Amino acid sequence: MKRFKGKTALVTGAGRGIGFEIARQLAAEGANVAVTDISEDLAKESAGKIQAETGARTFFLAQDVSKESDCENAVSKTIETFGSLDILVNNAGITRDNLVLRMKEKDFEDVLAVNLKGPFLMAKASFKHMSRKRYGKIINISSVVGQAGQAGQANYSASKAGLIGLTKSLAREFCKRNVNVNAVAPGFIETKMTENLDQKAREEILGNIPLERLGKPEDVAKAVLFLASEESAYITGQILAVNGGIYI
Ligand code: NAP
Repeated sequence: MKRFKGKTALVTGAGRGIGFEIARQLAAEGANVAVTDISEDLAKESAGKIQAETGARTFFLAQDVSKESDCENAVSKTIETFGSLDILVNNAGITRDNLVLRMKEKDFEDVLAVNLKGPFLMAKASFKHMSRKRYGKIINISSVVGQAGQAGQANYSASKAGLIGLTKSLAREFCKRNVNVNAVAPGFIETKMTENLDQKAREEILGNIPLERLGKPEDVAKAVLFLASEESAYITGQILAVNGGIYI
């Protein structure tokens, strides 16, 4: 029995990487999936691939999660297309790494706008519908560096730590309407975001991972699917670490 048959999910930043894999696994387990990304071409390509592979219904949309009108449009188009929105995965995220003394104000603001304001805007737009239905699952993709901090990533780690606070507050506000809000905090995962790590940094990171490998998008997607499923009905406001033990 497919766990998400009859359910509709929206995944932001699903054009590639972790978001693509989350959308793919949700579709493989029967969900209708709205694939959104800032790049329309990537969103289109991904939605097409997922539909061809899984036979699920998908649609694609260009969406910048830092813009309120784009968020409202993504939610209303999803409901127009599939009749509902049950699962929201706030996955879109960016990095603009630098040491604090070299970090530009704009690099700080841009990262906060996408990684933290985006999930707030998406949760707000989705809750209007989920509240009426008295059903919803919201999963935010945070990061181990939001829990542990990271030199060179003051903007990114602040945004991901903020997302943990947002997750807990949304969980408290939305629970009366049966909307669960949780976060997944991945460690170092093999995607385009981490492909530019030089060999030395990669070896250093690997040396600190008790499970002795970088994570894969599949590892993160499995945790997200658990939090999107009925198996986690009594879990809200929690941060599930998927990090190979690098931060315990
Ligand atoms: P990725 O490969 O860079 O994919 C992120 C996707 O989001 C890209 O397609 C990107 O499009 C899109 N995006 C960027 N800005 C956007 C915006 N304003 N609105 C909508 N979409 C936007 O990253 P990933 O590694 O899969 O990461 C996915 C999530 O996991 C992020 O939140 C990231 O912070 C988090 N995470 C990743 C790791 C890791 O090790 N990879 C670890 C912990 C947490 P463009 O490329 O065209 O900008």
